[in-house]
Amino acid sequence: MKYKLEKPVKASIGLQKYTMEVHWRNGKFTADEPITSGGKDLGPDPFTLLLSSLGTCTLATLRMYIDRKEWVIPEISIKTNLFQYKKDDKTITTFDRDLRFSTGITDEQMEKLVEIANNCPISKLLKGEVVERTFIFNEDQTVKKMFYRNNAITVIWKPSICKHSGRCVTGLPGVFNLQAKPWINMEGAESDQIKAQVDACPTGALTWELNSTNPS
Ligand code: SF4
Repeated sequence: MKYKLEKPVKASIGLQKYTMEVHWRNGKFTADEPITSGGKDLGPDPFTLLLSSLGTCTLATLRMYIDRKEWVIPEISIKTNLFQYKKDDKTITTFDRDLRFSTGITDEQMEKLVEIANNCPISKLLKGEVVERTFIFNEDQTVKKMFYRNNAITVIWKPSICKHSGRCVTGLPGVFNLQAKPWINMEGAESDQIKAQVDACPTGALTWELNSTNPS
């Protein structure tokens, strides 16, 4: 299994209620809770982020389809919202999206565009089976280190921090293999691939450093 994002979305919160810093692959933004929930409304709240995800995925998917069909529709806009209720101890969520096109469209086009919107990747995710996994990482551990080298870099593994989530194993099986001894094979991939996989270790159990060019 390969993660969708090369770099995971990283977020952190301090003591200021409820300002959060969210890092994505090309920058960062602030998220917050609305004032009614005790925040300062300095950025989108988690529900807004979820609805933005659905809205932007729908727009991008429609734009791809419309361009492929060479239909002349210069602008598409969308409003997304959701409502929830309880049924038999389960939370039922309904997502609504209202689409507007800047030019008139035929009934046939409308039918097709609704079908495309309903099958955008985030729609499929929301309708599919979702598995959530949560790993707790304690940064406070003093640790034994193991070293694995090739001719360019050294990978350092801290076993007591490793949560054995297997992310490295699934991401780069030619290098990280729990059945092999040693379990890290530095000849199993190019150094850049190894570095990228090490950087994706969520716990910090794996780090890498460049080998010294001066052995003294
Ligand atoms: S990704 Fe990091 S924490 Fe997970 S198994 Fe590999 S080394 Fe351990």
